[in-house]
Amino acid sequence: MKRIGVLTSGGDSPGMNAAVRAVVRKAIFHNVEIYGVYGGYAGLISGNIKKLELGSVGDIIHRGGTMLYSARCEEFKTKEGQQKGIEQLKKHGIDGLVVIGGDGSYRGAKALTEQGFPCAGVPGTIDNDINGTQYTIGFDTALNTVIDAIDKIRDTATSHERTFIIEVMGRDAGDIALWAGLAGGAETILIPEVGYDIQEIKTRLIKGHERGKKHSIIVVAEGVCSGVEFAKQVKEVTDFDTRVSVLGHIQRGGSPTAFDRVLASRLGARAVELLLEGKGGRAVGVQNNNVVDTHFEEVFNMKHEIDTDLYKLSQELSI
Ligand code: ADP
Repeated sequence: MKRIGVLTSGGDSPGMNAAVRAVVRKAIFHNVEIYGVYGGYAGLISGNIKKLELGSVGDIIHRGGTMLYSARCEEFKTKEGQQKGIEQLKKHGIDGLVVIGGDGSYRGAKALTEQGFPCAGVPGTIDNDINGTQYTIGFDTALNTVIDAIDKIRDTATSHERTFIIEVMGRDAGDIALWAGLAGGAETILIPEVGYDIQEIKTRLIKGHERGKKHSIIVVAEGVCSGVEFAKQVKEVTDFDTRVSVLGHIQRGGSPTAFDRVLASRLGARAVELLLEGKGGRAVGVQNNNVVDTHFEEVFNMKHEIDTDLYKLSQELSI
């Protein structure tokens, strides 16, 4: 392999830049030319492809977002769109592609590999919902952003003796809500993987109030229901003064944490190695602090599971 491409796709996450940097530098370290595809699969179809040098990725390791930009592209879900992408890659003499993104981006990478163009996947998403890795790039940074917000909200919640409902990202996966809720000392955590009983939450709120608690923090993953909707339900069963805070896209931004930078560096570099070893069609990840790789098919076949021990612990510590 003489020339590799790299793109970022789908929802962006902090640490994608660090991953791009690792891919570029690792390729050049092995005397392989490296090309950046700008704007995800849309940029691949339109041929927005430029050669990258060592200096192209200087001064980006600490920046959120992605210097290669990201996009969603419906056309790439079609065989014609994928063929156009392969033609562009061939036109630029590129032999393999590193795709940094989430589950949807991996499906695109799998489709290209099946059509004879080897791809390697790097898990870049704040949701931590990709199989084959214990942590995705951006999750740790998003968590720290949420915890920072919870800490600040707790100050005002205490002053005014209020119940705060904080809505965080996570349509299908409750990892952000669970981890941030545990680390932020939330009384109640609602995640899509586990149902909830409003009467049980009512009892919990009243018990807390009776023992003199000045505030309550409830973290809700957006996949359960909106914070506003949940506040209505709380209002129906209690007379507590509630406020809702929807954290939204601030969770996607910001300078990546040390953990995410190191993870991105390790995984980006390994993706290049995989392509050079002729092992396309696989996604890199980390398991028990070892870098591993998993076939795309296996990544899709496994069901993302929440850490049930952690959930249980969060329940036990918030009595
Ligand atoms: P993420 O990668 O963060 O999960 P998306 O699900 O939006 O984000 O996917 C990003 C892009 O990947 C889509 O806009 C599309 O171009 C491509 N993609 C998604 N699903 C498929 C698929 N089944 N086949 C081919 N490409 C896909």
